[in-house]
Amino acid sequence: MDINYFLFMIGKYNNILSYIDSIIDEFEETREFTEEYLRNKDKSFLRIFSPEVNKDFFVERKKHILHLKNLCNQYIQNLCNHEFETDTIDITPDKSHTISYCKFCQMSQPGF
Ligand SMILES: [Zn+2]
Repeated sequence: MDINYFLFMIGKYNNILSYIDSIIDEFEETREFTEEYLRNKDKSFLRIFSPEVNKDFFVERKKHILHLKNLCNQYIQNLCNHEFETDTIDITPDKSHTISYCKFCQMSQPGF
């Protein structure tokens, strides 16, 4: 089994996670807006428009996607015949940092 499937899936999961984070942020905003709107009004309204119910759904989905992404990383760890390359990154004009990563799966070399 080659690692390309898992690398592709991690890319997709990263996209999904970014969408989910945006959705969670939107629900958070609707909660703040609803609380503001309900100030000194009938709180039973909140049961209908409770953003928490919807937000929790996406928080749970996010946990599941993170789990799947973690599984993909484990498969890559086991399947990739790592070949590490080193590279120097300039942090400032007179300061640089050397990193080592696998040219196939981009994993950084442990302890480098
Ligand atoms: Zn690798």
